[in-house]
Amino acid sequence: MTPPLLQLEAVEKSYGPVTALRSTDLELKEGETVSLLGPNGAGKSTLLRIAAGLAAPTRGKVKLQGHAHDRQAVGYLGHATLLYPELTALENLVFAGRLYGVQATEQRAEQLLEEEGLAAVAHRRAGGFSRGMSQRLAIARARVHDPRLLLLDEPFTGLDVPATEALTQRLHDLRNQGQSWLLVTHEVQQAASLSDTALLVIGGRIVQTLSGAELNAETLGHAYKLALESRS
Ligand code: ADP
Ligand code: MG
Repeated sequence: MTPPLLQLEAVEKSYGPVTALRSTDLELKEGETVSLLGPNGAGKSTLLRIAAGLAAPTRGKVKLQGHAHDRQAVGYLGHATLLYPELTALENLVFAGRLYGVQATEQRAEQLLEEEGLAAVAHRRAGGFSRGMSQRLAIARARVHDPRLLLLDEPFTGLDVPATEALTQRLHDLRNQGQSWLLVTHEVQQAASLSDTALLVIGGRIVQTLSGAELNAETLGHAYKLALESRS
């Protein structure tokens, strides 16, 4: 049997007296897309950073494809885009590609710019990009080494309506190509339409898991509202 792409076993994370994430189990299969929905401070970013290998769990185990953490398997897009404003779009991707030891870096960078609809601005400085363009470039950056798993922390934040729609469409396309991800979002609509499974995270716990027929915006929105009302 193929091991899950991502597996968290009784993972906990504390920062001094603050428990950001309580004992959490999670399995994400190859090709699966999972959304995390929850209020501020619920532990969503902590979970993502642990999955990304950027934070070590206080307790428990993280495995990727059954093995110890492997940063080549994950692409992370956090609250900061990690782009260099002085570098062009192309240079940003080439630089990121070299960090990950990507072969034929220039070619890969050009391919990604094409895929994200940024080929025309390849030689423009990232610092001059709109929020929507920056976010597309940041996704290209996170995908530079063709990771099995994408970890996207609130990628819709700060985007206007057209940019939100463009990013939603882009994520649909990636999903159709078999891309797996963990996506943190505040948008019930996006969580429902872009994922196989939605997890409600409250107070450092996954309090509810919705998938299949239950996973539509109305049911998810209702479950989220109830979960928020019944906390503490
Ligand atoms: P979310 O992404 O759901 O808003 P976070 O994972 O960022 O939540 O935070 C969960 C809890 O952990 C919060 O109480 C937050 O203040 C705390 N926390 C997160 N990161 C740190 C850190 N580096 N140091 C101390 N406390 C942290
Ligand atoms: Mg967060």
